[in-house]
Amino acid sequence: MPPDDRAAWRNPPARALYDWVVVGGGPAGVAAALAAAAEALSVALVERDQLGGNSLNRGTIPSKALVRSGRVFDAIINARVFGARDAADPVADMPAVMQRMRGIRSRIAEYWAAERLAAAGIDVFFGPARFTDERSVSVGDVRLRYRQALIATGAQPSLPDIPGLPEVGHMTSATFFSLASLPQRLAVIGGGPLGCEMAQAFAHLGSRVTILQNEPKFLPDEERDAAEIVSLSLARAGVDTRLNTRVTAVRREQGAKIIDATDGTTAYSIAVDEILLSVGRVAATDELNLQAAAVELTAGGDVRVDEFLRTSNPAVFAAGDACMAHKFTNVAEATGRMAVRNAFGDDPHRHNSLIVPWCTYCDPEIAHVGMYLSDAYRAKIPVHSFTVMMQDVDRAITDGADDGFVKIHVRHGSDEILGATIVAARASDMINEIAVIMRAKMGMRALAEVLHTYPAQSDAIRMAAQAYVDSERASACR
Ligand SMILES: Cc1cc2nc3c(=O)[nH]c(=O)nc-3n(C[C@H](O)[C@H](O)[C@H](O)COP(=O)(O)OP(=O)(O)OC[C@H]3O[C@@H](n4cnc5c(N)ncnc54)[C@H](O)[C@@H]3O)c2cc1C
Repeated sequence: MPPDDRAAWRNPPARALYDWVVVGGGPAGVAAALAAAAEALSVALVERDQLGGNSLNRGTIPSKALVRSGRVFDAIINARVFGARDAADPVADMPAVMQRMRGIRSRIAEYWAAERLAAAGIDVFFGPARFTDERSVSVGDVRLRYRQALIATGAQPSLPDIPGLPEVGHMTSATFFSLASLPQRLAVIGGGPLGCEMAQAFAHLGSRVTILQNEPKFLPDEERDAAEIVSLSLARAGVDTRLNTRVTAVRREQGAKIIDATDGTTAYSIAVDEILLSVGRVAATDELNLQAAAVELTAGGDVRVDEFLRTSNPAVFAAGDACMAHKFTNVAEATGRMAVRNAFGDDPHRHNSLIVPWCTYCDPEIAHVGMYLSDAYRAKIPVHSFTVMMQDVDRAITDGADDGFVKIHVRHGSDEILGATIVAARASDMINEIAVIMRAKMGMRALAEVLHTYPAQSDAIRMAAQAYVDSERASACR
């Protein structure tokens, strides 16, 4: 059964008591349910909407499918650079673009099918879950009692308080992937990862895109040089980029949506056909009746957990976007599995021990793992950074994709890698090599000895390690 074919599903009869009740069928919840079932625990999984969560249905997968379409369009437009004589400007057939995205979603959805989970021994219930007390949740008329439970309900888009927005209408990631036609003029409010990815993809597809960001740089969490490359690549894609810009109101005029904004000195207005809001996400807990379960939230609205993912109710854990600062699919899956280990095992793991690589899928991609320089400064850790520009990497040159750099932060006086930022084509793949080295507690010296295929983008990583070895040798000679 595809996950959205819920009508055909019959919820099973509930057991008197479950070892593990999981609320939410996204990456965190499904990983936690499968891990617990593999330990022969009795498991119920409750999903109010579609299995696969935001990652499959309204997040990671659909956004990456659209990014890919945008990149193909961009490659066609730039084909002359590679010697194509008759490269024409492609015109987006938006229903076909969206159809491709839906096809990809359906294909990946097979992994998330309720039957597959049931075959693994999990009782799957469709319907909104609501805590009834500290030891049970209800799904409709059914009450599920548990020894331990997991909140894995993910996050939902934050909605800023902009006058006129509710009346004029807008899209968020919850609705954007149902677009039926290409907006001629698209405004993206928010310059975080989703805002930047969608602004660039839609510019490649042919929309006239304006991105409005209320901070001095895009991707505010990333290092300045990385964020600057994103600014440049957005501008090169034809995106009208507005930094330090606050949206003051939204209104409708002659069929268009008018955005009133100010950059602090000048107030201005822009007319668009569609608005995508992308200003952050907060835990989806509104339906859960958390007071009944004695589960507390943080001031920011996420589920409060300790370092072992336990909430203020000792019988309830949380995982994934519902509680984690890093709201990524890989973190959701890892914390889902970790919650099982911590709830039922005798070797609890701390969530802050995870080494978390992540990526923003602009072109070039921006990936990061571990500490930023600012983290190291704050922690008073002396750092040396080793940078290789992609314009010095032969594969980047042959591919005509030489924007960006590999920058690795090393603890001063050792070869320990503290963190790295990679801006490059396929940075999302390259960063994993650094994560492996960090996890294996190898250092720059070992990395320098690893032969890489030649030519390869990832050779930049070896070159950075070689720069470390050379600098060590040079200081030994001094
Ligand atoms: C546009 C976009 C792009 C993204 N791109 C990336 C990316 O490239 N890489 C990456 O790593 N991450 C990306 N993410 C983030 C990623 O999607 C999330 O980190 C991931 O989905 C979190 O998994 P989760 O299981 O914690 O929550 P979710 O995937 O949100 O799943 C939670 C589930 O709980 C269900 N639920 C909620 N309330 C209830 C209730 N009361 N009862 C029953 N069920 C309930 C929901 O219906 C949902 O299915 C992106 C997110 C968005 C929005």
